Amino acid sequence: IDPLTGLHNRRFADMQMERIVRSANENGQDYAVMMVDIDHFKSINDTYGHHAGDMVLTEIASRFRDNFRDIDLIARVGGEEFLIAMPETDATQAQIVAERLRKVVRDTPFILPEGSGDLTVTISVGAAIGGLSTISELSSNPPSALADKALYSAKGAGRDTVVMAKT
Ligand code: GH3
Ligand code: MG
Ligand code: MG
Repeated sequence: IDPLTGLHNRRFADMQMERIVRSANENGQDYAVMMVDIDHFKSINDTYGHHAGDMVLTEIASRFRDNFRDIDLIARVGGEEFLIAMPETDATQAQIVAERLRKVVRDTPFILPEGSGDLTVTISVGAAIGGLSTISELSSNPPSALADKALYSAKGAGRDTVVMAKT
């Protein structure tokens, strides 16, 4: 568990991903992987202080938790980067969930500590779909890597954006 946000950490996420991949191969159902990165997070720290940055991370984690099912995996895998995996989820559903997540962050300002007012925060999301696949397909093009590339495209497209990887 990540102590700041209470979300799972990368090590736990890696173990759970193996389980999600295995069960997709057993039941033939697609799953979605999303990589989420807070936009311009460094400038939040620089402008309002590290404490405000921590508060934004905690509040984002709480909004994420409120928006997923118990079977979904939500992990903090980097400073301001999150991995979300959704079993039994196809591309259409993933797109809807990712857009909803983007709005859940952007549409409600974050209250800053010590009466410093509030702040609009945005996220970029890259999503990819996995399903029935051989070990060699998985190792050459893992959905998490495709989601990472899609996240990079979302940043390039101007941020506050969802990009779905082509699969
Ligand atoms: P981009 O829109 O391209 O993602 O820009 P960015 O500023 O979000 O990305 P960048 O990688 O430049 O900065 C990430 C910042 O996140 C830098 C680092 O100090 C901050 N950070 C990482 N972990 C923590 C943390 O636990 N707490 C706080 N407050 N800041 C953190
Ligand atoms: Mg960032
Ligand atoms: Mg980052």
